[in-house]
Amino acid sequence: MPIWIINAICFVGFFLLWEGVAWFTHKYIMHGFLWSWHKDHHEPGYKRFEKNDLFGVVFAALSVLLIVMGAEAWDWRFWSGLGIAAYGAAYFFVHDIFVHQRVKWFTRTNNRYLMALRKAHKIHHKKLGKEDGEAFGFLFVHRKYWPKKTNA
Ligand SMILES: [Zn+2]
Ligand SMILES: [Zn+2]
Repeated sequence: MPIWIINAICFVGFFLLWEGVAWFTHKYIMHGFLWSWHKDHHEPGYKRFEKNDLFGVVFAALSVLLIVMGAEAWDWRFWSGLGIAAYGAAYFFVHDIFVHQRVKWFTRTNNRYLMALRKAHKIHHKKLGKEDGEAFGFLFVHRKYWPKKTNA
């Protein structure tokens, strides 16, 4: 197999894998033994920085580590780290800017996918506590959250 295909698989694969990692981390770690880091993200009110942002820092460090380790050989580690970084960037734009509006950019949308994603995440935030949450995933949005098709 040509090397560029392997690299592309690593990049796309790690991007997709990270949705699973984010879901797992959110459900079992953030709402588990590291709830103390995630708690302030479920508290209402606006804070410039949240303790919850530390998770982003940890994932970013992991991705930088892979990129640096693979930078000389431009091997799978480089592309995998880049895949994680791309997921992190997507997560940041969609979660922090679009959903939570920490920066007031695109606040309005008619895109059904984005509306579903925002709804699912708002439902996740309805629970202020650690237990029995739902919708822990992020970019993959379950069908039940999608708005009904209208023929308007
Ligand atoms: Zn949560
Ligand atoms: Zn959130």
